[in-house]
Amino acid sequence: MATFNAVAENGNAEEPPQSALIFLGTGCSSAVPNAFCLIQRSDPPCPVCSQALSIPPEKNPNYRCNTSLLIDYCQKDGEHKYILIDVGKTFREQVLRWFTLHKVPRMDSIILSHEHADAVLGLDDVRAVQPYSTKNDIDPTPIYLSQHSMDSIAQKFPYLVNKKLKPGQEIRRVAQFDWKIIEEDCEKPFVASGLKIIPLPVMHGEDYVCLGFLFGGKNRVAYLSDVSRILPTTEHHISKDSGGQLDLLIVDALYKKGSHNVHFCLPQTLDVVKRLCPKRALLIGMTHEFDHYKDNKFLSEWSKREGIHVQLAHDGLKVRVDL
Ligand SMILES: [Zn+2]
Ligand SMILES: [Zn+2]
Repeated sequence: MATFNAVAENGNAEEPPQSALIFLGTGCSSAVPNAFCLIQRSDPPCPVCSQALSIPPEKNPNYRCNTSLLIDYCQKDGEHKYILIDVGKTFREQVLRWFTLHKVPRMDSIILSHEHADAVLGLDDVRAVQPYSTKNDIDPTPIYLSQHSMDSIAQKFPYLVNKKLKPGQEIRRVAQFDWKIIEEDCEKPFVASGLKIIPLPVMHGEDYVCLGFLFGGKNRVAYLSDVSRILPTTEHHISKDSGGQLDLLIVDALYKKGSHNVHFCLPQTLDVVKRLCPKRALLIGMTHEFDHYKDNKFLSEWSKREGIHVQLAHDGLKVRVDL
């Protein structure tokens, strides 16, 4: 099995059951390797994408599916609940790869950050991880989303939202969801599978609000997958100076240099990390510009200088947390 990603970051089998975060995907919308890099190879070839031709994905931290996080929430009675954030284009592959490795038996609830393709286009495939029923009479999976996302999904997947059959229409097996609208408001928390979650509205381009999420009573974790600017009210909840220090910040970094209109790139990401001052940060949403080993070396040096531990996450990474 892979040496670096098959194992939880800390702890061992003898420890009491504990909550954990499993990074199901840490890549951008087009995912890594970038298909164009492999069908029209440059000279020299793209070093990050080329690795995908010779190294199997489970041993290649530069193989990145769409950004998605699974919260393995261990309740007080020791029962585990599995809460998924986002269901992108690569959802099925992520289930095959990481649910099996980390022994995740099911999903108890889903949360959507927004309605872009890389966050929702796997919704049809949720059927494959639900119990089999030709009559669609299974318990639907609760799915938490904003009204804006709901409206968009009703257009993208009308058959998942509108369940009434027209006269003469055959029943066909489709994923079953219990749609639950959440507010884009830090003051309006919701509870998914027993875990209290605070929505963190952020700008994802100046014309678009995306939701991040804050959760955890003991370890405070904030997840900001698609962000170009953090709104003041959101910043107030997650910065060391006002809301209290985060134990873990999981945050967007699309490219290594410059800036981008709808995502943070590394310079803005590191500025935000310094401003919010979490104990630790893990970066997600990377393109093929990032090389896991090389850039983590750079980030280790940055971390020593700044006193905040920052690294690139990778697909399959499991981090133990006390929620
Ligand atoms: Zn490439
Ligand atoms: Zn997006």
